[in-house]
Amino acid sequence: MPQLSSINRIVLGLVSLTVSILLIAGLMGVIPNPAPLQHQSRRSFGESTAVSFMALASRMDSEELQTTLDQIRERNGDVRSIGIREADGSLILQSGPHDEIWTSSTNTVDSDVETAVPISSNSRNWGRMEIAWTPGSEIRVFGFVLRPDLLLTLIVGTVGTVAFSLYLNRVMRHINPSKVVPTRVRDALNALAEGLLVLDRCQSIVLANDSFAAAAGVDAAELIGTRPERFGFKVVGDDPTVDLPWLTTAHTARPVNGVLLTRGTGEKQRTYSVSTVPVLDGQNQSRGVVASFEDVTQLQNKQQELRTALTSLRTSSEEIRRQNRELEWLATRDTLTGCLNRRSFFRDYETLWKGMQTHGTALAAIMVDIDHFKAINDSHGHGFGDEVLRLVSAVIMKTVAEGELVCRYGGEEFTVLLPDATIDQAELRAEEIRRAIMALKFERVSNFVITASLGVSATSESPESPQDLLDQADRSLYAAKRNGRNRVARWDVAKHNMAKETDEATPPRDDEGANRAASAIPFHAVAALTSALSHRDQATAIHSRRVADLCVATGEGLLSLRECYVLEIAALLHDIGKIGIPDSILRKTGKLSPEELDMVHRYNRMGVDMVRGSFGASVLTEIVEQHVVHYDMTNADRGAGPDHKPSIAARILSIANAYDTMVSELSYRGQLTRSEAFAELRKCAGSQFDPELVERFIGALKLRHHVHAENELTVTRESALSIGLLLEQLISALDDQDMIHLADIIETLQITATTHGLMSIAKLAVTLRQTMEEDHDHIELMQIAGELLDMCRSTQSTLLAAGAGTAPPPIGVVGE
Ligand code: GH3
Ligand code: MG
Ligand code: MG
Repeated sequence: MPQLSSINRIVLGLVSLTVSILLIAGLMGVIPNPAPLQHQSRRSFGESTAVSFMALASRMDSEELQTTLDQIRERNGDVRSIGIREADGSLILQSGPHDEIWTSSTNTVDSDVETAVPISSNSRNWGRMEIAWTPGSEIRVFGFVLRPDLLLTLIVGTVGTVAFSLYLNRVMRHINPSKVVPTRVRDALNALAEGLLVLDRCQSIVLANDSFAAAAGVDAAELIGTRPERFGFKVVGDDPTVDLPWLTTAHTARPVNGVLLTRGTGEKQRTYSVSTVPVLDGQNQSRGVVASFEDVTQLQNKQQELRTALTSLRTSSEEIRRQNRELEWLATRDTLTGCLNRRSFFRDYETLWKGMQTHGTALAAIMVDIDHFKAINDSHGHGFGDEVLRLVSAVIMKTVAEGELVCRYGGEEFTVLLPDATIDQAELRAEEIRRAIMALKFERVSNFVITASLGVSATSESPESPQDLLDQADRSLYAAKRNGRNRVARWDVAKHNMAKETDEATPPRDDEGANRAASAIPFHAVAALTSALSHRDQATAIHSRRVADLCVATGEGLLSLRECYVLEIAALLHDIGKIGIPDSILRKTGKLSPEELDMVHRYNRMGVDMVRGSFGASVLTEIVEQHVVHYDMTNADRGAGPDHKPSIAARILSIANAYDTMVSELSYRGQLTRSEAFAELRKCAGSQFDPELVERFIGALKLRHHVHAENELTVTRESALSIGLLLEQLISALDDQDMIHLADIIETLQITATTHGLMSIAKLAVTLRQTMEEDHDHIELMQIAGELLDMCRSTQSTLLAAGAGTAPPPIGVVGE
């Protein structure tokens, strides 16, 4: 049975009471009923008129009687007609249309509309007088004549029900039910910072605390009886399936937690987290809802700001990520030709070699050397020489398939590695490359033909090490040169001819030591050590790479392929001892004290021990150990002793190391220009440096004029890359709100930026750290991170754009 609301119950009670009173009054006759009275008076009227008529009938003629009847009828408005009827039923007189109206035929009629009074003469029934009345004012309901007292009760009952409910509904609204709430409780509710509403079963407010009223901007009393919807609350997210929480609770009698609602628009918009619980009665029926409104506008705004900041960070970090990948790609490439550089090549080559050993597959190598390139340079200039190099490398790269490697191995020397290829397949490929190079056309010099000599070998020739395979290909190349150039030579054929030949101009080189060393040095181990150095002191790692390039350029043509490889590794590792040097000395910019210098020497010795221990290759250790010894042996004690003269390789390293220190910012004396550095080298030639090698070094550097500029670019690219990679980590730490990791990254960023001389980035890193330590404001952190990203992005873009002309676009990327 549906429950009646309290108002309806009160209405019902009131109406019942009133009706009962009226009924009792009716029964007691207190309420007058006019019908019987009227009937009575009509009958008396009829009787007295009949008596008068009998008295007059004997004295008057019929005309006079007619007039009298008419007068009686006219004076009495209730009378419609009067008729005098004889006993035989004939109507002898009538006033009004009596014969039409009269219905009864009996002598005595006494109804509400007809009265008949018998007339007798001399005790004999003569006839009767008939009076027809207008119908009385009786009330009928559904055909039943209703007593007026009952009617009154009915009317009062009906009208009362409507009137009472309207009135009570209105009045109850103004009777503040919250007054029922004890003052203590009300005070406690008002003390809450959250807005609080108590709603009745119809979701009308029965109580609102001060916080709600204040937020709504109205008086708490005014809220009573109204519904919360009037404030225009909207569910955040416009999800049509989510109802206003108090409605949900009212309908389901279940609590709702933390629904976000907004109110107002624009600047004035507020956001509330609204939770509701049902108020249940003894039968677990919902009697109302309690709703709490927590103003979360500030929090929401902060979160929105955070989201915006994060989105913009993500967008710029996307860009950084893309540029980082591009820089990483470039870091593995030779700037002039876009081929793999030597170090990336060695790394990938070793992986291929291991795969070949594990799976027993084949591997072939092709060495390409441009014929008479020196002459091309001399007659057409270095610019043209460079263009030739670019075109030749492009031709070679075009011939390779995925998984094959192309490396610029030396000035005008390229290496191609073909996994899974036999020596026959390699020869075919070499032929293809040779013909393609010959077919090259040059805009600047018409009818100019470039040729190249190529040597091939493969694992079927049982090379002992990766370097051995390259050496076989290189010696075949040498055979091709000797046999007239512009041809391909295979090691399986060339090796027999070589054994037969006794060419005094080219005595076989004694590079057995280098051979053993090269076989013993896994390039991955070297890469691991240099990357450790990179983490400890990036500037030194980059310096080492530059020195390695300078050594290779100087050693080319003077040293064997394997000797060159060992020298390159010695150069990469010559400063490995710095891994252990304390920061105070490592980061010192001024001149070192004798004690500090002593410490540096100690760590250098440690470096030598590390190299010896790691590789056990005496040739390699010798270069690292002896490169600090002067040509004139005046400081022989710093090396292996007075009986050990530094090898050519050690002397080259000594010069390259000194030169790079002079021209880079590493020197405490300040940076020297190229020619100043050349002058300085020449000044010390004979004492500190081997004079012949100094000239060779300067010659190699002058010929490969772009080597240093190229290195500069590579170095700045590396700086941009290392900063860019750190920023990638920084963004993801910010994203994950990983504060511990973030602090680490910021510190590394600051050190790295300082090492690379990127002071504005270092400064921002300091600000970032301070912000983090001081107040943890995430948004501010993100804004600074955003600035950092922008700075880094533009630096990277400039560097990428600056290098754009030097390398082909990364299409047909090989060995990746
Ligand atoms: P061969 O036919 O015997 O190979 O004679 P070659 O002249 O090609 O050989 P050589 O090794 O005597 O000379 C190589 C030259 O390549 C010397 C060097 O100046 C030049 N070279 C090396 N790197 C570059 C470079 O990056 N750009 C230019 N333009 N020349 C370079
Ligand atoms: Mg050549
Ligand atoms: Mg050459």
